[in-house]
Formats: sequence, C-alpha cells, structure tokens
Amino acid sequence: MKYIFVTGGVVSSLGKGLAASSLGTLLELRGLRVIMQKFDPYLNIDPGTMNPYEHGEVYVLDDGAETDLDLGHYERFTHTNLSKLNNLTSGQVYQSVLDKERAGKYKGRTVQVIPHVTNEIKARIHEVAEKMGGDVIITEIGGTVGDIEGLPFLEAIRQFAQEAGPGNVVFVHATLVPYIKAAQELKTKPTQQSIAKLREIGIAPHIILCRTEHPLDLDVREKISLFGNVPIESVVEVRDVKNTIYEVPLKLHEERLDDNVCRLLGLTTPQPDLGRWRSFVQRVIHPSHHVRIGVVGKYIELQDAYKSIYEALTHAGAANDCKVDIVRVDAESIEKAGPELYLAGLQGILIPGGFGDRGTEGKITAARYAREKGVPYFGICLGMQIAVIEFARNVCGLKNATSTEFDKAAEHPVISLMEEQKKVRQLGGTMRLGTWVTDLVPGSKAFELYHSATITERHRHRFEFNSDYKERMEDKGMLISGTSPKGELAEIIELPDHPYFVACQFHPEFLSKPNHPHPLFHGFVKAAMQRHGAQEPAC
Ligand code: GLN
Repeated sequence: MKYIFVTGGVVSSLGKGLAASSLGTLLELRGLRVIMQKFDPYLNIDPGTMNPYEHGEVYVLDDGAETDLDLGHYERFTHTNLSKLNNLTSGQVYQSVLDKERAGKYKGRTVQVIPHVTNEIKARIHEVAEKMGGDVIITEIGGTVGDIEGLPFLEAIRQFAQEAGPGNVVFVHATLVPYIKAAQELKTKPTQQSIAKLREIGIAPHIILCRTEHPLDLDVREKISLFGNVPIESVVEVRDVKNTIYEVPLKLHEERLDDNVCRLLGLTTPQPDLGRWRSFVQRVIHPSHHVRIGVVGKYIELQDAYKSIYEALTHAGAANDCKVDIVRVDAESIEKAGPELYLAGLQGILIPGGFGDRGTEGKITAARYAREKGVPYFGICLGMQIAVIEFARNVCGLKNATSTEFDKAAEHPVISLMEEQKKVRQLGGTMRLGTWVTDLVPGSKAFELYHSATITERHRHRFEFNSDYKERMEDKGMLISGTSPKGELAEIIELPDHPYFVACQFHPEFLSKPNHPHPLFHGFVKAAMQRHGAQEPAC
C-alpha cells in the first residue's frame, strides 16, 4: 500500500479536493486501485448539523455517513467506494480518545495530543488500508497549513511517513501563486512561505501544486523549485480551467503529475487511457444543444450548496449532447414578485432538498407553475414534499395542506414526521440516512428510465408523504411510482399526464458520475430539451 497526503497552503478554496480527485482519476486510469479520504480538522463530528452557509452541501454515502462535499468529488472522479471510515474529523478523533479515557483504556496515563490524538489519526489510516485494500490511499487534509486546529493531523501524517519508510509516502502541497496586476508578475513568496511553514512541522513536500490564473513560466518554476527544495518537474501548474472542472485531470496529466507520483512511489504502470474521459470533456465543452433549467432554492447564491445537483445536471447534459444553463432562482424572490418574472422561458424547473420553511411558499408557487404550464419538473427530497403539498392544495382542494415540518398543527399534514423519527431527540446523524431499496411500478416513467423494478438510492430526511392522503391524491391523478419494499413509504411520485413531472424522496444527485448520468436527471434534461425543441448553443 502506498500513501499520498495532500495539504494546502496560503488560502482555502484552492481546489485541493479537485486536484486530489483528479490525481485519483489519473492513477485509476493507470490501473491502480485508489482509495480516497478526507481529514477535516473542525470539531463537529460530521458536517451533518452544519448550515449550508458554513459548509456547503452535505454529501451522503451509501452507509448513511454525512460527509464533506469533497467526498462527492472523490466519488465522481474515481470508482472508490466510500464509507464513514473515509471522512475523519477532529470531533470524531477527540470523541474516541475521550471515550477511551473514560473507559480507563489509557491505564492512568496523562492523555495528550501527542501521542494519543496522533495515534488515533494514524490508526484510522491503517484501518482504512486494512479494511479497504487497494494500491494507493489519497488523503486530503482539510484547512490550510498554519491553522492551529490542523496541527495534530499534520504531526500524525509526519509520523506516519516516518514509520512507513521512504518510497511509500508522497506529500503533495497545493498553494496559490497570485498574479499582481500592477507589477504584471506572478508572485512565489506566499508559496515559499507556505512550504517553509510545512517544513517547520517536519514535512518536506515532494510535489508543489501551484494554483494560478496565468501560465507558470520557467523562471517561476525554477524559483519555486529552488526555494521549495523539489526538482523542477515537481512544480506543477494548476491553472484555472475555462470550461469545466473535468478538464483538471487532463491538465495535470500534461504536467506529468501522475508519472511523477508513480516514480516517487516506485509504481510501475502503463500510461493512463484518457480516451473516455477526454470524450466526456469534449461533450461538455462542445454540445450541439442547450437548455435553461431553473434551480429554485434558498441557498442559491452559494456556489457549493447544491454542488452534486449541478454536477449531475452537467453529466446528464453531456449524455444528451446538451449544455445545461443553470438559472439560480431564489425561492423568496418568487414569493415577492410571482413566478413569471423568474420562471418564464425556462425549459425545466428543479427544486432541491432543504430544511425549514423559509422560501417554501415560493417553491410551492414554482411547482404549481411547472405543473400547470407543462414545464418539466424534478423535485428532490424537499422538492418532492413541495410537489405533494402543491398538488394537495391546488388539485385536491385541501386548502391548508402543508408539512408538519412547517406547521406542527397542520390541518392537512400531507407530509409528516416518519414514525421512527418521533422518538429522536439528538440532531446529528439521526435522519433516515443512506441507501434504501425502492420498488418501482411497471409502466411508470421511473420504471422506464431506470429499466429496473428495484433500485437503491441514498436518503437524508425525517419527513415523508403521509399515506392517509394517498387515495385522495391518486384519485386526482398522482402516481406513486416508487415505494419502500413494504409499500409504506412513497419514494417517487409522478404525474403521468405531464411531459415530465417526477419527484423523489431520495437524493439521486449523489449517484451520478461523468460517464454514468443518473437516469432521473437524464430523463429530466431530455424532457427539457423537448419542451420547445432543442436550441443551438448561444455561443
Ligand atoms: N426537510 C425535509 C425532511 O427532513 C427534506 C429533507 C431534504 O430535502 N434533504 O424530510
């Protein structure tokens, strides 16, 4: 087993996760089995209880782990099959150490960051290696070198490398090489200082990934090589990509990053076969058609809040030879100004997951607009609950229909708390999470798209379609096309008389991959293209 540790310096949001994932892609395409994981130095046990403004999307794994959105990149860029083992936070580390302390496992010793906390971190790396196998583990360390809270992780990986011996560990350090306009120059000083900081901790990086807006010329590379104490081929340019994040592996391959890593780790492999990846990128960059799809949410201004949904739309677009222009619509704006202003001209409307009642009336208005005007609609989790509420109010005549999430004393609680959730008191990790099986109704849209009678999808919710209202909804034309195996929970609803009105209680966006678009996204984009006929790209 070989190990790659990816750290970051200078600033956050450098695209460290993307760079790590892209390296994963390249190593996988060279025939290696790659495991990816993230260490997050914050004290939360997981990001599940964090606000999207704090953290962006919470990415859910098969086993129900609520994890950092970088794990979404890992799963989209590689075939690595992740579990709760693959996202370790300081909160988990300290919880485990303190549990052991209370149980007397430290035999009366003083419990300290070194060695007890660092041992806990190293033990996790060994556990992943033992349980998951593979050829290479890529571990990304969240945060930036110099953060106080990140120190135990850096010390742990330093020790780990020492114990693993030379040739088994590669340290990759991602930094920023800013361009100063007034001087018309790229500046290497922040990178030099960041490497110096890492060295103080005892880690000498083997490879420097330089995030930059401009090409790194030879001078700049030589300077970083000299001060960073790495050979010049280990100074890697990671220039901003123009079109799509899926170009990053191709760019890193041009910089020979994968050759270099394999050499450092003594791995002999063939060159990667980038054919399928390249053709996917070509389809993303040069589509024949384009559609405009509105995503109506309440965290719309945040780039990261619906990350997997935006990616899934890109994958489905590429499969349909179509560019999906995403129009971000703030649900509260619809409440103020009505739907026309924001939704007219869209070829599809998607309502993503969410919590709490802010913006829900705007979303209900959007769902009604889609249903009445025949605009393709795709509801995900809360987006399905919204569709049910709208249908109950405006088709079934249940005026005050709503969810008990928004009104505990609802007159018509068409969405209500799941039975097993009623006794739940703790917030973290207590929703209906992870993979559950859904049976599909033959002849339905969902059945046609999945080509299967049974599917598994990832979930993250507490509320459900209230089956007391099932008959009334079905009588008015709603089809419950997917249910949990005993038929208790509605998992997919659709309107057979509509060009595409499909909504699901689970999160299909977590299972979409570049060359394997999710069937429901695929069908949605296709329906959107057919709405007014596909259009030629705007440019
Ligand atoms: N708030 C809703 C629930 O808990 C929907 C959750 C979601 O969209 N992820 O059921």
